[in-house]
Amino acid sequence: MRLKRLSIQALGAIGCLVAAHGAAGGGDAEQVRDDLSPAQEQAMWDEIRQSVATLRAQGTLVAADVAGAAQAVSYAFPLRMAPGLADYAGFRVSAYADHNATAGQFLDYTGGNRTYDSHRGTDFALWPFGWNKLNAGDVQAVAAAAGTIAFKANGDPTDHQPCDAGSSSDAWNYVAVAHADGRLTIYGHLRYNSLTTKAIGQTVAQGEYLGTAASSGNSSGPHLHFEMRYGNYSNNEWIDPYAGPNSQPGTLWANQRPYFDSAINKISTHSAQPIDVNCQPSITNLQDSFTTPARIYFYIHYRDYQGALPTAGTVYRPDGTVFQSWSVTDATTFLSAAKKSWVFDFSANDPAGTWRFEANYNGQSYQTFVNLNAPTSITLLNSGSQTRLDPQKTHAITWTDNLGGGINIALYRDGVYLATLASDIPSNGQHLWKPDAALALGTGYSIRVSSVTNPAVYDTSDTPFTLAPTPSLAPILMLLLD
Ligand SMILES: [Zn+2]
Repeated sequence: MRLKRLSIQALGAIGCLVAAHGAAGGGDAEQVRDDLSPAQEQAMWDEIRQSVATLRAQGTLVAADVAGAAQAVSYAFPLRMAPGLADYAGFRVSAYADHNATAGQFLDYTGGNRTYDSHRGTDFALWPFGWNKLNAGDVQAVAAAAGTIAFKANGDPTDHQPCDAGSSSDAWNYVAVAHADGRLTIYGHLRYNSLTTKAIGQTVAQGEYLGTAASSGNSSGPHLHFEMRYGNYSNNEWIDPYAGPNSQPGTLWANQRPYFDSAINKISTHSAQPIDVNCQPSITNLQDSFTTPARIYFYIHYRDYQGALPTAGTVYRPDGTVFQSWSVTDATTFLSAAKKSWVFDFSANDPAGTWRFEANYNGQSYQTFVNLNAPTSITLLNSGSQTRLDPQKTHAITWTDNLGGGINIALYRDGVYLATLASDIPSNGQHLWKPDAALALGTGYSIRVSSVTNPAVYDTSDTPFTLAPTPSLAPILMLLLD
């Protein structure tokens, strides 16, 4: 075993002024931005205004129309990861709002230049493997606060802009939500046909799903554009939710993230270097089970990378002893997206079993697992022999595995995914499950237990089971159903 290579790769030209002005094309981490024309933007706000007027006339929308109204609502983060995604986070801020109206001059809320001209919102780029995340629907836009759907548009089937024949005249797919304090939030570039099924005029709760982040409309890569306006939603009536010297003293966020939100988004092992493909999913070469001789690529993908902050990495053998450890810094001032990799060769002399790769960065600890000469496996134990489960009782789902990492548990019916029962829970071999009261009684149910880091490793109930009350309870249940 020997250290083959230690490298840092700064992807594209990300961050600060350089990033704000387009970068070398192609890479997953290139600068993403909105490229809506002023006319497109105007048309969108016109249709929102018209819809809001209609909703107010109907009495559906009672939110105040007061310019600069005192804030009555706290806004939560507008993105979440789809259940079961193994990443620690799936986004980075690629651009804040621009507080300098002069063309060619840039001023974000802190006085920095992480923005571009006429940008009145925040761009959250999908990272890493943004196109993979787009295709998989891995990052979801959710309502930042409770409100009423003021408008939504699903007119653009080309959500792989700029490379899927979408044109500069495409309007984006978006949802607009009006809130109790008169403010309105928009969620732009959503994936075609991913929008909430709720209609204009219906209410949504804070955190409720609105659509999946994509690149529809005139966009240069997968990201969510999040923007807030008030009053009559003119180009002058927008507000930056971040508190700062160039925005306003009070934050609109319930929890404002730091300007340099330096963290690890993903820690992973690969059979080869990932290969980025322009406007298409990367060839990730993700792998967490190897047979010797094996060359294993250990990767860390960062957001808001600062090279002065040390990265401490450790690879542990199956028995918990240290195989390799290191701590590195570099001269990089700032990169919104960065990755580092370390490559080790393993031979038959290295112990078989589940190895652990841990990283510490900016006060947080991250880990992933890799199996050597011991293919990952999960064996679901209990539902194979059970053919009937009482929906009003609690049942133990039990399994064995050698994953090391967390597991997801999902419910299927007739082979079709139905619901997530547990997401990224410790693999301790047992999970207690009480069927949701809304589940239909009947046959064809099965349970799937899968690896969080490698969803391809899973086990399913040997025989489908029936959800039905035990015979003695049947009369009572029927009364309840009446
Ligand atoms: Zn934007």
